[in-house]
Amino acid sequence: MLRMVALAGDPYEMGLQLGKEIRGLTPYIRELFDAVRREIGENPSLEKLVEDMREVVERHSPEFVQMLEGVAEGAWFARDILFETTCSTFLRHMLHYGLECSVWAVKAEHTSHGEPILAKNRDKRVRYKPLHLFVYARPKGGLAYFASTNAGDPGVAGGGMNERGLTVFSTYVASSDIGVGLPDNVLAKMILESCSTVEEAIDFLKSVPRLGQFTFTLGDAKGDIAVVEVGYRELDVEIPEEGYAFRTNHFKSARMSEKYYDPYHYTAYEREDTLARWRHLDERVRGALGTIDLNFVKRLMRYHDPGGHSICRHVGEGDVPVETVASMIALPKRSRILFAEGPPCEHPYLTLDLGGGMP
Ligand SMILES: [Zn+2]
Repeated sequence: MLRMVALAGDPYEMGLQLGKEIRGLTPYIRELFDAVRREIGENPSLEKLVEDMREVVERHSPEFVQMLEGVAEGAWFARDILFETTCSTFLRHMLHYGLECSVWAVKAEHTSHGEPILAKNRDKRVRYKPLHLFVYARPKGGLAYFASTNAGDPGVAGGGMNERGLTVFSTYVASSDIGVGLPDNVLAKMILESCSTVEEAIDFLKSVPRLGQFTFTLGDAKGDIAVVEVGYRELDVEIPEEGYAFRTNHFKSARMSEKYYDPYHYTAYEREDTLARWRHLDERVRGALGTIDLNFVKRLMRYHDPGGHSICRHVGEGDVPVETVASMIALPKRSRILFAEGPPCEHPYLTLDLGGGMP
């Protein structure tokens, strides 16, 4: 069953609403938290890292912390654990997670209806699947947005679109360029709440401390698209001249990939997987330039690869249990987003027009 939560009000009120909605999941969130801590084992630097992260998030996004307090209150859940579970991209780094998400974007000149399109399949380890949640938020004083995120997370963990049509789709990248800064879910939320254009989002990303380890593919109603590869020290912006771009789980730019891409702990399958999914997207999108329409996009997001590197992921493919938990197709010019929960080959896309409130 599709899980979608509507939130409105100030940060604390939105958090409280979210917390109440996910209260039934708190034992499971706690179980996952304990399992992750066990897998990481003794790590004296972890407490310090979490403390430093908290300071940075509090300084740059007090609203995030206020919302987190609301979630903790509404869900009857410990605030500190909630913070660690929702701001802990660095934990993924320690656990070497990686095989997650395929994203692409094309500009208006390549589509049959003359509008830019962005698409993302969000993949997760199956044990995180029960946490998936779509959120439609109308924050007081900010822009309304739709997002794919995780139960309990006040941020935007999987990406989304705001009422102006600005779209942010993230992918995770294993990188050694990581440090104490804002994680991707906090940054995506801040962008959706306050930016209207790709240019504004890029300027914003350059102006704040970043944890790193991710890419943001951006698109707006003006028709601009860009990809930002984000690290702690460095950041690379790609404005694709050819009018299309892809991201899976490795960096493309020389600046980020040569110095920082860190697939050391990946299996051979995983190293090939991020490259293979990129190739699938690249070949298919190139082959359809000028004629790309919604049917093409849906087919591509439902693509199963006989070689085991699918865009639409299912357990049993590859050497770790990963599944597509959400698929999103963005039409920024109309502030319209299509979304499916679970692998899109099994679930229909629903449509939400963000300019017009709830469907
Ligand atoms: Zn499928």
